[in-house]
Amino acid sequence: MSAHSPLFARLGLSHTSPTDQKPKSDFFSVRSPIDGSVLATLPITSQDTLSQQVAQATETFKTWSLVPAPQRGELVRLLGETLRAHKEDLAMLVSLEAGKIPSEARGEVQEMIDICDFAVGLSRQLYGLTIASERPEHRMMEQWLPLGVVGVITAFNFPVAVWAWNAALALVCGNTLVWKPSEKTPLTALATQALFLKACAQHPQAAPLSSGLLSVALGRADIGRCLAEDVRVALVSATGSCRMGQDLAPRVAARFGKSLLELGGNNAVIVAPSADLSLALRGIVFGAWGTAGQRCTTTRRLIVHRSVHEALVQSIERARASLKIGSPFEAGTLIGPLIDQNAFEAMQTSLSRAVSEGGRVYGGRRALAGQFPEAWYVEPALAVMPGQTPVVFEETFAPILYVMAYDDFDSAIAMNNAVAQGLSSALFTRDLQEAERFVSASGSDCGIANVNLGTSGAEIGGAFGGEKQTGGGRESGSDAWKNYMRRATNTINFGRDLPLAQGVSFSL
Ligand code: NAD
Repeated sequence: MSAHSPLFARLGLSHTSPTDQKPKSDFFSVRSPIDGSVLATLPITSQDTLSQQVAQATETFKTWSLVPAPQRGELVRLLGETLRAHKEDLAMLVSLEAGKIPSEARGEVQEMIDICDFAVGLSRQLYGLTIASERPEHRMMEQWLPLGVVGVITAFNFPVAVWAWNAALALVCGNTLVWKPSEKTPLTALATQALFLKACAQHPQAAPLSSGLLSVALGRADIGRCLAEDVRVALVSATGSCRMGQDLAPRVAARFGKSLLELGGNNAVIVAPSADLSLALRGIVFGAWGTAGQRCTTTRRLIVHRSVHEALVQSIERARASLKIGSPFEAGTLIGPLIDQNAFEAMQTSLSRAVSEGGRVYGGRRALAGQFPEAWYVEPALAVMPGQTPVVFEETFAPILYVMAYDDFDSAIAMNNAVAQGLSSALFTRDLQEAERFVSASGSDCGIANVNLGTSGAEIGGAFGGEKQTGGGRESGSDAWKNYMRRATNTINFGRDLPLAQGVSFSL
């Protein structure tokens, strides 16, 4: 019996008791990044089992897609209520498994609840169009119909919110789901599945279908690849690194499947001379080092006007040095652990490169190694660079902020846009022309462009995603639901003649 057993039991995870036994080849261990302890040892889903899960999801789709959308929305309402009731427990598990501080872990679960609320309303608003036909006594319309099985692949750093963005919309749109969570955070996925089953139990149409509405496939990249290549999966929604997307997207495309890609970011903040520097400081420090630099929208690059560069670097460095690093469960902690040793090593490699490319690095050393020898805490790092050298172009998924100076606004925008990724960006300015330019066609080329706030912490109401190597996908709010439906254009002739479009005549 572990200290976490009561929490696991409340979340329906009693079957996943932790064990210290060495995992067999078809099992894997789940470790907490907080102290490196083994939380559970879980079986890897076999390809045969995955195939059965997809078959069941395909069969269930036939029934679920015919349930009226507002009744599908009722299931998502029940899911939102179930999440509300278990918010604290699920957030605790997010902290344990992903290392987030409690406030951010609660925020993640709140995001799940928010998207459920959004999707419930949406279930009565899956609007199509009526289109004027050029032919007499004809009516044209466009409608949105359920798509099929949606495969969801998620990253470790938002272990449950990203699933919810996909699932809440996909379910109201009439689809069924197979979820491959990160191999680093499977417990939060299993707990979410258990909560989903609780919601289903209260819904007359969903109850008998629940195991086909959502199944969870555990494993590493190879299981994700199987999902990508399965022709029965209509949409593969994949969140993770650009490298993952580069491998996955051609596999889905080769079978003419649809993919929705939410990949890596390399997000910049520009600070103009007119900026409110204390506002900028707060936005930059949270954006760069909150979540230990492990958000896709983390601020990785800071592009500062030369006239305020030195002063801002000094105040950022003071703030950096004062951030409390520690276990997420210790009061006052702002910077939790990195997910694993690989993340630590990648960070050290990038910092060495930054130095060799002319950078001046503050922080970045391993922290708390005595207290947590099996975990990977680091001091957040600030790297003052001579310009955007090669290392700055890469996303290192760790708390490193590269700072560069700029002289004119055009070159600041060019620097913002120079990287291969196109997720998030922000400008701090009081100059109206700069602000408008930044969000215009000649401004930031990212999917997210903010003014006077940081790069991270999006709300669910807007469509979320980015351009270029970030993959082009959009999830969450706005009209992202259209990704989860197929569009049908229908023309109905209510006359007795058969006029052809474009005036074509074909008389028998
Ligand atoms: P990762 O790419 O290592 O893994 C993500 C998921 O993809 C995991 O479930 C993994 O098992 C699976 N996977 C890996 N390779 C695969 C392949 N070839 N085929 C199929 N599945 C594969 O990413 P990670 O380390 O878990 O997460 C961090 C990365 O995710 C960062 O690059 C971050 O920017 C990105 N991310 C992006 C968003 C976004 O919305 N744009 C959100 C969160 C994280």
